[in-house]
Amino acid sequence: MGALPKRKYAKARQGRRRGHLKVASLPHIELCSQCHSPKLPHRVCPTCGTYAGREVIEIKTPRKKAS
Ligand SMILES: [Zn+2]
Repeated sequence: MGALPKRKYAKARQGRRRGHLKVASLPHIELCSQCHSPKLPHRVCPTCGTYAGREVIEIKTPRKKAS
C-alpha cells in the first residue's frame, strides 16, 4: 500500500482549490456566420437571432455594434 492521506479533504476545501481552475479560461467566442458579431458556439446569435443560417428567434431591440 502506498501513502494515504491522513484526513479526508472537506468538499468546501476541494471547491476552494478548484475555484481557481475555471477562472483562468475565458469563454470560447465564435463569430456569427450571418452578422459576424461575436457569439457563443451552439447558441442562437443574440444580435440577429439566427442559428445554422435560419432565423430562430425575433430580436425586438436590435443591438447595434459598439463603436
Ligand atoms: Zn448574428
